[in-house]
Amino acid sequence: MIDTHIHLDSARYDDAAEICRRAAARGVEAIVVPGIDPSSNRAALQLAARFPGLVYAAAGLHPELPALERLDIDAMADTVRRNRAAICAVGEVGLPYYGPAAGLPERQALAREAVHCAAALARDMDLALIVHAPHETAAVALQIMRGAGTRRAVFHWHKSDQATTRAILDAGFFVSLTPEVVWRERDRELARLAPLDQIVVETDGPYSHRRAFGDRPAEPWMVSEAIAAIAAIKGLDRAEVAGTTTVNARKLFALDGTDS
Ligand SMILES: [Zn+2]
Repeated sequence: MIDTHIHLDSARYDDAAEICRRAAARGVEAIVVPGIDPSSNRAALQLAARFPGLVYAAAGLHPELPALERLDIDAMADTVRRNRAAICAVGEVGLPYYGPAAGLPERQALAREAVHCAAALARDMDLALIVHAPHETAAVALQIMRGAGTRRAVFHWHKSDQATTRAILDAGFFVSLTPEVVWRERDRELARLAPLDQIVVETDGPYSHRRAFGDRPAEPWMVSEAIAAIAAIKGLDRAEVAGTTTVNARKLFALDGTDS
């Protein structure tokens, strides 16, 4: 099992080593930590250096940060170029949907620029792209990625209309499900629609998946619940879903090692 998206550098986690130990003990083989701004990019790189072979870093720029400037895009690009060997993806980047900045046209324009820059970098440097593009922003992100010739990408915690989801899958990209697939009909529908070989799983911790786990911040081992739910929905073996989503994540991020 691989948690393809968790903000392990969050202040809500006080003991990364213990979380990694619990993850490994429950069969998590890899943990991808995406960056959202310069300091979390640095923290993700540090975590990857501290837990080699388990934690993998990505460097990005979150579209819903309270402040975002053109210079931040340059800084992200610079971090990606300087750390190519130490990261597995550019991200997360994307388009704002939640929060007060999302409604601002300037913010939307700047975020589109960031996605374009990140997509071009990922293509040129042969890295995956981690995309935050909820609901109707997904179609816009897809269009930018097509224009930039993106090859490997995941729409993280994917949610959009069916036509857009089909277009994303037709383009060969991955969609990611969280433990919300245990109960939320929208996510269950996505699990039915997407072929298993284009699904990866994530927790998006520290987000708390309250319906399944209460108020505690999500931990990587919780992807096992998403895997169990996907298996039940698709009428497949849990082991098959665990194995295939692991292979998918390894392909997406070009991680070393054989599959589970
Ligand atoms: Zn995230």
